[in-house]
Amino acid sequence: MYKEELGHLTLSLFAGAVIAVIFGNLWVIAWAVLSGFLIDGDHLFDYIRYKGLNGLSLKEFFGGSYFDQSGKVILPLHGFEYCLIFAVVAYIFTDWRPAMLALALSLFFHLVFDTLTNHPIWPTYSILFRAFNRFDHHKFDFKSRQANKLVSK
Ligand SMILES: [Zn+2]
Repeated sequence: MYKEELGHLTLSLFAGAVIAVIFGNLWVIAWAVLSGFLIDGDHLFDYIRYKGLNGLSLKEFFGGSYFDQSGKVILPLHGFEYCLIFAVVAYIFTDWRPAMLALALSLFFHLVFDTLTNHPIWPTYSILFRAFNRFDHHKFDFKSRQANKLVSK
């Protein structure tokens, strides 16, 4: 988990730097860090939904076993669709273009990185795909589930 977060932070800073150079605006780096790094804060939504507010544990939170135990992967901010929305907003509202493009590019990097490192079936990081599958963890075939299958064989 920590290595993945370092990867997310690095990619966020890279995405922010690219947009900062293009638009000459260093503030966009903060937007890139927001969508490419801090977005993983939405794991709290799934964790608290599973556990409630009592007995929360950082170890359990970072372990991620609550996805298996709850059987759901909601992650409300993880969705390629948001990249498209940010890009459309960037196209329409030129004053917001640098910030929106930083959000879009950094989130896109985050979701591609998550797809490559978690090895789910490919559309899993579409919020619509997960919603159509009722956020059922068993439909997405993450690597932790694949490892469990190998152990149980
Ligand atoms: Zn993520």
